[in-house]
Amino acid sequence: MARVILHIDMDAFFAAVEQREHPELKGKPVIIGADPKEGKGRGVVSTCSYEARPFGVHSAMPISEAYRKCPHGIYLPPNGKLYRQVSENIFDIYNRYTDAVEPLSIDEAFLDVTGSTRLFGEGRQIAEQIKDAIVREHRLTASVGVACNKYLAKIASDLDKPDGLVEVAPDAIDAFLSDLHISRLWGAGKQTQKIFQHMGIKTIGQLARYPLPTLTHKFGKLGQHFYNLAHGIDEREVSTLANVKSVSNEHTFGQDTNVIATIENTLFHLAGKVGYRLRKKGLAGKTIHLKLRYDNFNTITRNKTLPKTTDNTQIIYDTVKWLFEQNYQSGRKVRLLGVGVSGFEQKGGKQKTIFDMIDEKNDRLNQIEDLLVDRYGDNIISRAENLNRKRNK
Ligand SMILES: [Mg+2]
Repeated sequence: MARVILHIDMDAFFAAVEQREHPELKGKPVIIGADPKEGKGRGVVSTCSYEARPFGVHSAMPISEAYRKCPHGIYLPPNGKLYRQVSENIFDIYNRYTDAVEPLSIDEAFLDVTGSTRLFGEGRQIAEQIKDAIVREHRLTASVGVACNKYLAKIASDLDKPDGLVEVAPDAIDAFLSDLHISRLWGAGKQTQKIFQHMGIKTIGQLARYPLPTLTHKFGKLGQHFYNLAHGIDEREVSTLANVKSVSNEHTFGQDTNVIATIENTLFHLAGKVGYRLRKKGLAGKTIHLKLRYDNFNTITRNKTLPKTTDNTQIIYDTVKWLFEQNYQSGRKVRLLGVGVSGFEQKGGKQKTIFDMIDEKNDRLNQIEDLLVDRYGDNIISRAENLNRKRNK
């Protein structure tokens, strides 16, 4: 049976909350972020209202640039506590419809409502009910994508903002994807874009014309990934806390290294990230993992199971450092290190919140980029730099 997945994204969330709290801001360009200091401010735009967008202001833009484009805008610092509270209330609405809610950020989530359709109607109807509840109870709007998987639902939610509702019917997937720009492909970061550019690919439909063997020849194991996405295939589950199996972080060195101090620093940094994420999720695990890739791409993974579960950075680091010392072939250059923890038990007594679960989806994107850099990396980057240098002459 086909799954029914919703991607729900609040519209200009922080700015919309401010406009709701302060009616005098309605209809005005509201820009939430760093202090612009009359154009001399540092930092970036966090969110802006739709009224600010015609001036060319968008999120992640330097605040000084936003000020140049829209000096009469209303600039406000973020009120994190308020946004969090509102976010929790919105997520409570999602939980009325399904337990399978995966938060992506404070204002964005995937919902698997496959099991809810008998009770609440089809995907589109559930999306309408949720949108209505958000407007009625919180005077805010959301845009929703409805599809048979996360990737398509996420693209769909973005196509008709604000207050959008876009459904991708299972028999209309190819038509839906064919004219979309290739930048909408999940995981298509800068490196990937450059390769597609070289291939003359502008739309997802153009990529879909490549047979699988051609793509695997060109991209290695990523070929299958791109093939699937070009055809709208995505098997990823909506991951709730209950099905998180491991927490891990990796680092690819800009330059392969055999300097022990650098390697140990990196392991410590990775252990710190993993420990932080475990603590945030209220998880503790027994098995510590090391991943070690040498400059010739030979990769080993080793693990050690501890007598007790841990979420402690120092214990994770000590264990992974021990694994490294036991297994490292002295003098060889290292390309990539990874640290992970699995074998979870929920730490007792801790109340779960949605924020325990906000997962670094970007990690996975970064991993895809890492794979590309592994394969094409320096080559692609230096090629682009050379081009720039020539142009600047
Ligand atoms: Mg949003």
